[in-house]
Amino acid sequence: MDRDPSSENKDLRRRLTAVIANARHNEERMRRFHEQELQLLSASGLVDLLRHIVVGHRQVFELQSVTLTLIDAEYEFQRLLAELGCSDCFPEVRFVDSGAGLAAFFGSAQMPRLGEFRADRHAELFHVGPPPASVAVLPLLRQRRLLGSLNLGSQAAGRFIPGSATDFLERLGAVVAIGLENAINHERLKHIGLIDALTGVHNRRYFDRRLTEEVERVQRSGQPLTCLFLDVDHFKKVNDVHGHQVGDRVLQEVAARVKAQLRLSDALGRYGGEEFSALLVQTDLEQATDIAERIRASIAGEPFRLGGAHDLRVTMSVGIAVLLPQDCAGDIAACAERLVALADEAVYRAKQGGRNRVEIAGKTAAGPL
Ligand code: GH3
Ligand code: MG
Ligand code: MG
Repeated sequence: MDRDPSSENKDLRRRLTAVIANARHNEERMRRFHEQELQLLSASGLVDLLRHIVVGHRQVFELQSVTLTLIDAEYEFQRLLAELGCSDCFPEVRFVDSGAGLAAFFGSAQMPRLGEFRADRHAELFHVGPPPASVAVLPLLRQRRLLGSLNLGSQAAGRFIPGSATDFLERLGAVVAIGLENAINHERLKHIGLIDALTGVHNRRYFDRRLTEEVERVQRSGQPLTCLFLDVDHFKKVNDVHGHQVGDRVLQEVAARVKAQLRLSDALGRYGGEEFSALLVQTDLEQATDIAERIRASIAGEPFRLGGAHDLRVTMSVGIAVLLPQDCAGDIAACAERLVALADEAVYRAKQGGRNRVEIAGKTAAGPL
């Protein structure tokens, strides 16, 4: 039977319109995806990246929830976030000690898993907010190694259906995995640049940076800050008598003993050669004097057992300077510089006074800060 050409035309036009609308929709989806992809790849650090992943994706793809499960057996992600002052910034991110559970979830195919939300399977993955209706769980893989999963949850039951094409989601997972690997490598490099290779404590670069931050904090918090300068006594003689390598081992042991007396929130740096500097946060003169004395005693009290004939006695001189909130109002840099100069001057007096002792800045010549 012949069809009416005008109704055939209408039908074609309708189908064409639908195809165009679909193409526009896909184009818009691709545009948002590309934009998000660029954001992920240009993130300036781990915190920035995690924000793009958990907040950015939720907004851009209009999802109810986006969470991230990260395998962090050695606590590297968690340590980095703590150092960046962001331990609690992302409740959406959950760290697991082992990848076994996730590996079993994805099976050997290691492909995105789509379907309705099932508490027995997905409750741990969607650990914040109300449970979604449908979910897509994407494996985050680098060189076939599972880093974790990106978990997308939608209120719409029909958004993620088993058996749908997953090219787009696979790509999203790959980009997020690359972003995470980049960010952690970047943070590792930054970290290495701030650590002293011989002793494993921070270096002067880190110390100077922390000093500025801590002096600023004194003004905000109203809490005092103490700076210690520590200098190994007659260290040149250790090198001369026992050799440079033994000298190196003494420095390592000195750093370890000093560090053992400090809190995690304090900063310890190798200032140069056989000199160390420490920042004791929220610490007044009385507490700092106790700590400095404990450090001195921990070095002098026990011989350094470096094996064989190399057991030796080592001592250290310590200078203390305290910064109180009222001591410096305006110029942070000048104030930081003065604090260090005063601690240095106090060590000098400890040396003059016979070494193996603690001296407090400003007690004689320098006057109060
Ligand atoms: P004082 O009690 O007055 O501080 O005397 P000192 O001998 O400790 O001080 P001095 O500044 O004269 O000598 C410091 C020595 O530290 C000289 C230098 O060769 C040595 N030194 C600096 N860095 C290192 C290092 O990384 N390893 C070793 N083994 N020695 C180092
Ligand atoms: Mg010295
Ligand atoms: Mg010395």
